[in-house]
Amino acid sequence: MTAPIAHFNGELLPIDQVHISPLDRGFIFGDGVYEVIPVYDGAMLRGREHFERLQRSMDEIRLDNPHTVDEWLKISEDLLAHHPGNQSLYIQVTRGVPPKRDHVLPKGLKPTVFLMTYPLASPSREQVENGVKCITSPDFRWEKCNIKSTSLLGNVLARQLSADVGATETILFRDGMLTEASASNVFVVKNATVAAPPRDNLILLGITYDLLVKLANEGALKLEIRPISEAEVRSADEVWLTSSTKEVLAVTTLDGKPVGRGKPGELFKRMHALFQEHKARLLERKKATA
Ligand code: PMP
Repeated sequence: MTAPIAHFNGELLPIDQVHISPLDRGFIFGDGVYEVIPVYDGAMLRGREHFERLQRSMDEIRLDNPHTVDEWLKISEDLLAHHPGNQSLYIQVTRGVPPKRDHVLPKGLKPTVFLMTYPLASPSREQVENGVKCITSPDFRWEKCNIKSTSLLGNVLARQLSADVGATETILFRDGMLTEASASNVFVVKNATVAAPPRDNLILLGITYDLLVKLANEGALKLEIRPISEAEVRSADEVWLTSSTKEVLAVTTLDGKPVGRGKPGELFKRMHALFQEHKARLLERKKATA
């Protein structure tokens, strides 16, 4: 079987023919940024927004973007033509390959660009209907969590804590306040009001987070963006996770204790339905332009 097609520095080629230098700053320093875009039957969900966030991540790390958003969208579509169905589209840009290892940012390097796809692992029916288990941990990551950096050691170690006990995510608190989870944003519901933590440097501003805010407004759900204490999370009626692959999932067990009534709540069901309607409209638009 031939290996799946990937994009590497302007070329489409089987992924097993992609060769990256050990001096690449992505390998040596984790000096790079990335995106993951959910694709439903060839239609990217919020593709433009993902590439705008890639630009913000690059600005934060002082990396010149080798492509405009429109070029990125075209590159993605060319790759997706080889990968029908539902896919996760992964995009990574590193600072490139300098002649020697040195922390100081080298000038004039050509960034390394890599894209691949893999089958999108959407939430199972069971996860949607019963919710998922999470645990909590202090947020021991750095203070630039707004950058979607490939330096993910903090997130990897945080995620492993939940994997070790068969839980879906690790929800993180910094100085007694909710930040996010190891690879998801977190929302809470109390007394029919949804709340999400502020868009600051302590969380990755999820594309799905922003979509939920928009859907909440359109669906007339009450939503507040404000600091949320650990105590509020522990006494919430509902807790949700959001991400490009998880969409929106209800957390029904937190550190072994039930959240609310221990079942996905009414507002979760409403938001989940709004999300599925949004996806259905995306597919209709894609069909109409095909
Ligand atoms: N926070 C972190 C740390 C993440 O890694 C992710 C993405 N997996 C998210 C939040 C959610 O972001 P998005 O909705 O853009 O996938």
